[in-house]
Amino acid sequence: MRSLELMPNEDDWLEGPDVLEVQTALRFRGAALDGIFGPDTALAVQKWKWRFGFPKRHVNGRLGLQGRAWLLRLAAQPADFRARADQRKGVPLPGSVSGYAAPLPVGMGHGSEFRVVDAEGAPGPGGKNYHAAKDWFAPGGTPVRAPIGGRVCEAKPSLNDTGQVFGGTVKIEERGGRVWVFRHVVPKVSVEERVSRGQLVATVTAWKDGPPHAHIELWKTLAGGYRLENMIDPVTVLR
Ligand SMILES: [Zn+2]
Repeated sequence: MRSLELMPNEDDWLEGPDVLEVQTALRFRGAALDGIFGPDTALAVQKWKWRFGFPKRHVNGRLGLQGRAWLLRLAAQPADFRARADQRKGVPLPGSVSGYAAPLPVGMGHGSEFRVVDAEGAPGPGGKNYHAAKDWFAPGGTPVRAPIGGRVCEAKPSLNDTGQVFGGTVKIEERGGRVWVFRHVVPKVSVEERVSRGQLVATVTAWKDGPPHAHIELWKTLAGGYRLENMIDPVTVLR
């Protein structure tokens, strides 16, 4: 078996039966059983580490040999881990630990508009369109920052501040392949630019017809496109 100390190298996700074994143990935390150590598995590892009581600085998407032994119940949970795990019962993995920075400097607000039927939204089941995004309300001009490092794969200028499809668009592709989409914004970056976590990428468009907000989508892949099936509720990873 290869050393799992290397998991995951984000430029070269590992694959194989040892990954599948880990995914099987993580299954109830949302990892796909595909034998590939990709972003879904890394996030599942992170959630498990949080719940298992790892010290905060080790709550990341990597799984070392010792972590694997604990996950597969080949070694006993240390007492200090158990104490932290008890304190974290019912407390979700905080966004500050998940590795994503909050894109806007104001509160996210409650809930999510993900999966709300919306004529302007992404095509989904039953021939309906869905609002597959979080609307994050903030005054016009509010800075929008990259939640994670990546490559700018689209930056469309803002052409108007009225109507339904107002403002411009910025898309950032993570190294793992996910794409963050910000709509109703004024881009501050250009296509192919590399951005780092927390870097200013846009500002919120001052919308004339209603409360200004950044419409934030999270795509599984760029190639998957604007379809509900290809989208993740951003609230689930930013929380
Ligand atoms: Zn929206």
